[in-house]
Amino acid sequence: MVYSVTLGIWFGVMDSSLLRRSHSIEDEAELQKDSDSDDGLLYKIITSAEKFQDLKLKELPLVHQTRKKSENGSTSSLVDPDDSWMIGGSLGSRNTVLRFRCNALSDPPVDPPANELHMTYKTIQAETKLLSAVLHSHGMREVHPNIPDFNLLWTGVHPKPHLLKAMAPYQRVNHFPRSYELTRKDRLYKNIEKMQHAKGAKHFDFIPQTFVMPVDFRELCSSHYRHRGPWIVKPVASSRGRGIYIVSSPDQVPLEETVVVAKYIDNPLLVDGHKCDLRLYVAVTSYDPLLVYLYEEGLVRFATVKYDLSGKHLWNPCMHLCNYSINKYHSDYIKSEDPDAEDVGHKWTLSALLRHLRAQGTDTSVLMQRIEEVVVKAILASAPPIISACRMFVPYPRNCFELYGFDILIDSTLKPWLLEVNLSPSLGCDSPLDVRVKSAMLVDLLTLVGLPTVDPMLRRANECHRPQSQLDILKKLSCRRVHSADALAGSSSNIGRKPPPIVTSSRLIASSLSLSPEENRIIKSVRAEFERRGGFVRIFPSAESWKRYGCFLDPVTGITCTSAVSGSHLCAPPMVVPRNYNLLIHQQLFPELQSACKAMDGAPLPDRLTRYERALLQGHKASLDEGHLDRSGGENDDSDAVEERKEVTELKNEVIQNMEDGSRLSQYQARRTFSQYLICILRQISGQNKADPVIEDHGELILRFLQKASSNLRTPYFVQDRMAVVAKQLNDFIYLYNRETDLYSEGGETPNIVPGKLYQQFLAAANEQDLEEVLSVQTRLYKCTHLYVGRSGSSPNSMRPFGLLRSLPYTPRGSDKTDCECSASHHRKTLPCLSKSGSAIGASATTQQSSSLPSTAAGTGKRQSLKISRAL
Ligand code: ADP
Repeated sequence: MVYSVTLGIWFGVMDSSLLRRSHSIEDEAELQKDSDSDDGLLYKIITSAEKFQDLKLKELPLVHQTRKKSENGSTSSLVDPDDSWMIGGSLGSRNTVLRFRCNALSDPPVDPPANELHMTYKTIQAETKLLSAVLHSHGMREVHPNIPDFNLLWTGVHPKPHLLKAMAPYQRVNHFPRSYELTRKDRLYKNIEKMQHAKGAKHFDFIPQTFVMPVDFRELCSSHYRHRGPWIVKPVASSRGRGIYIVSSPDQVPLEETVVVAKYIDNPLLVDGHKCDLRLYVAVTSYDPLLVYLYEEGLVRFATVKYDLSGKHLWNPCMHLCNYSINKYHSDYIKSEDPDAEDVGHKWTLSALLRHLRAQGTDTSVLMQRIEEVVVKAILASAPPIISACRMFVPYPRNCFELYGFDILIDSTLKPWLLEVNLSPSLGCDSPLDVRVKSAMLVDLLTLVGLPTVDPMLRRANECHRPQSQLDILKKLSCRRVHSADALAGSSSNIGRKPPPIVTSSRLIASSLSLSPEENRIIKSVRAEFERRGGFVRIFPSAESWKRYGCFLDPVTGITCTSAVSGSHLCAPPMVVPRNYNLLIHQQLFPELQSACKAMDGAPLPDRLTRYERALLQGHKASLDEGHLDRSGGENDDSDAVEERKEVTELKNEVIQNMEDGSRLSQYQARRTFSQYLICILRQISGQNKADPVIEDHGELILRFLQKASSNLRTPYFVQDRMAVVAKQLNDFIYLYNRETDLYSEGGETPNIVPGKLYQQFLAAANEQDLEEVLSVQTRLYKCTHLYVGRSGSSPNSMRPFGLLRSLPYTPRGSDKTDCECSASHHRKTLPCLSKSGSAIGASATTQQSSSLPSTAAGTGKRQSLKISRAL
């Protein structure tokens, strides 16, 4: 591994369209075929239905018929050249979708179509810096989450059924309903286990054996008896390596909480002695028919500490976990600052790893073929419930798409293991390489998905003017393909009915000569999407996917068959004709399928597999830091910062004034403040100068604090890099602490509590010093810290410098001393009682103690030495 960090200037931007990698022969063949997108067929049907009913409603145009200004000010019709910001027609056409490009980030188009059409997006609980940068640069505007007129909804959580049901045909949302069947560790394993039972374990043996505690404890014990550990323990719904640890036997697994316990893969592929895992980006644009794309570039994350095969260092997280959020705290972690360096430091690109492996004699095409197989099989295993939910909640075929983050571990025999699938893979950019890979992937995803060029406001206005009769037609037409959904539902009342005839391949081939309008629409739409794939490699359907996966699909519905005997169609209700869209698409796209009954073994590997190995040529290379994309220049940076600081100080003073006047921080506010303060400390200990003895000392203190403040956190044994462990534990603690803090959240304003709005503004801008000051005032006024620290602790610390953590008062467990005033009447105003229980109260924070908290000025000196880059 090359551990040289190139501190380079981040280069300018390349136009992805110019540098796009050449397509494989297989792709080119596909391109020759009909590519006319016809997503708007539904509109056409409605239009003819309207005509039929002789409804002469005067409609507003759905889209603007716009003209483009030429250099000399004259106008010309918009065409669809390759360099246009649209694909599939002109701005007036309903089949036209936006084209996204990386170069828009540094050189946004003038008057992009999205801007002219007032196209909008909204976000809900999502990390949006990169997404917003991309969408804004293409002329899309963000609207409030409550606004129903939008083109794209990007959410970090599953969309609610009522939101899905209300979607218009042109609207897109970045999740399918019930995607958790794939993205929850426990559900994923159960779905794959089901397929192991139905189709044979050897076809689905790519996931480490997994148990959900406490229900599967017996099974875990018997498996341990047969195969031995080690086992890796993970919280059910967590991420970024939080709360993960390794045990060597089942009796070390806690039974009081729900955790997932998986067989630990102890023979990972090592690169230069380091364990690594892959983050791959997988887009699904439809579940029935199934359309799966794997992005040609991914990320490889390395553990910082060399892997110890002797197993002596079972507990070192920086040896066994590859998460960036854990390894970044290690003093040896190398973060490359060069966007062009794909194999430098502890994060590489997938292509760089493949090139490295090929240079060592590995057949990387075979490896990528196995990885593709893992991705497709995992999706197939989880598909049936997702398809059922789509039938129930999603009104139009193109409403939903999904970007999954697949985490894959390769073992020393080059077998890929699926660790987990992430629902909303991080689009955060911690390094220039992140920006490059993720921006390229995101623009390609948005183009692939295809956002129709529709003005959402005009569209909504049309809907309002539409008479009920038309809306009924629209609704009827939107209930498409319910037949195969019902087949999935499997009503027991239908068991025993005469099944529909099994449709053989030859019969379907014959019938494909006369495709129904819906089948035609689907085929055209699949082909149009393929043309827009950019860096995405379509892995299902592909030339060989029917041979490879056809046996897992029901021959009539084409949907994954989860029972040993194929025949979910047996459950089809009467009058329902199931359709095998997957077979239809394979036949239409790959006509050679008819003669494709030859054995898989010995067949040449598909050309597309070589795409994964080429160096990344596109992607935005500059930082996404605030202001960087603002092309107005950065001359005012310093004065802006001074101005901002002034505002924060004013906010802080106002909060403190409120407190001096008798208000206090609520428990929720106090905990949020404390949590943010801990995050500041976390940033300090993960800053650049980890060898600083002051920081070392801080580590000691934090470890002691954690041991005392949290009985849930485990003290690590055999640790080598203590700071990394401390940082991980603090990170885990903050995660748990915040989870509990949410329980204290209040609805509206409460008397004698600092006003919520003021507090929020303060919290959003405060730094460590501000937070500490406010917490100190609260501590001084109410003579206790247990509003935010909790009521159990240990003996009081003697007052020493180093900030609030050092001076936190602790009371021995079981002490009944309650001289704090947060639960009693305050001398100025009556305070609501917070806790009636007098036990185990951390009550020794006297005024004298709190006055010995480091004053802002006194604390500053030490803190300056700990000052950190706010780069997290
Ligand atoms: P999270 O969602 O918290 O990131 P993961 O399941 O992705 O959890 O695991 C985090 C890290 O733990 C991975 O980067 C991987 O290195 C390691 N890991 C997870 N499961 C296993 C396993 N079964 N065997 C070996 N290492 C594993």
